[in-house]
Amino acid sequence: MTRPIRVEIHPSALLHNYRRCKQLSRSNTALAVIKADAYGHGSLLTARALADEADGFALLNIEDAIRLRAAGIRQPITLLEGPFDRREVEAMAEYGIAGAIHSPHQMAWLAEGSLPRPVEVWLKVNSGMNRLGFTPKQAPSAIEQLRGLPHARLTTIMTHFATADDERGVEAQWQRFAPVAEASGLAVSAANSAAVFRHPQTHGQTSRPGITLYGCSPFDDATGQELGLLPAMTLSADIIATQELRPGDAVGYGLRFTAESPMRIGIVACGYADGYPRIAGNGTPVAVDGQLSGTVGRVSMDMMVVDLTHLPQAGVGSRVELWGQEIPIEKVAAASGTIGYELMCAVAPRVPRLAR
Ligand SMILES: *Cc1c(COP(=O)(O)O)cnc(C)c1O
Repeated sequence: MTRPIRVEIHPSALLHNYRRCKQLSRSNTALAVIKADAYGHGSLLTARALADEADGFALLNIEDAIRLRAAGIRQPITLLEGPFDRREVEAMAEYGIAGAIHSPHQMAWLAEGSLPRPVEVWLKVNSGMNRLGFTPKQAPSAIEQLRGLPHARLTTIMTHFATADDERGVEAQWQRFAPVAEASGLAVSAANSAAVFRHPQTHGQTSRPGITLYGCSPFDDATGQELGLLPAMTLSADIIATQELRPGDAVGYGLRFTAESPMRIGIVACGYADGYPRIAGNGTPVAVDGQLSGTVGRVSMDMMVVDLTHLPQAGVGSRVELWGQEIPIEKVAAASGTIGYELMCAVAPRVPRLAR
């Protein structure tokens, strides 16, 4: 008997969501962003789900990119933060993997020695987020330098938005980036999920949707469903025990919940060590055998508690959906003061992952 918890990944939802992103930016190619093991969905599983339809993939680690190549993934792959050392430049050339160049030290690695073949590079421009990239002022000379390197093939100019998902939008950053991008004559890549859905002027040649591929909304004011997306991940676990509470009985660590009237509760085989947020408050929504209910008391390491008072049919073996089709991940995120991205990425390796 194995511990009854699993995270299901839905390949058909991944494909549906990718098509939805493509449909919104029809003239472009869309790189599926599969960093962080495809936001917890499994990068190979996700790449295979998108099969030949994906125009390409974007991620962070060369090791992950090489693994995709070894598994037969032939589409373009771009490293969003580029090489982390000179050896990675060689691996990029060997495996045909493109990468962003955001700093002079990376430029120096490209200029060092020779490579078996040229490596495709994208120039990253810092248009206001102030993480990675050359300033718009530095960009023209960086472009000139890259064009002068015999082993670099500069194809694309990129930037990344800090507020594409909120009411501030992209205009300030776009006004700094667009003139440099236009003057460069390079392919343009700027749009993350939020910009794919709400800022068409930024679509350029290559968009980079991430969160929406997984069915989650990047916006506070719209759910994934309202954006025409399907959840690609379902986290569920079963009830392994039940308890009857009398008025005054309390539950779990810190006895943070006290019953005011007679209650029946179910103990669920999922805790914060599985990736469910410990901070999720009392009453965070769950679905027990398809019926809406809520959490009770504190989430512990390996268990959590749900209210069964109004669900007399539910008991040991009942399936509790923690997020997925019935419980939007955005709701659990809101109840935990975080975003769907963090919850998806935090599902622990000990939770068996099934494709279905
Ligand atoms: C993560 C990331 C994306 C995707 O962002 P979403 O908000 O998940 O769509 C796109 N571009 C870069 C550079 C990123 O780091």
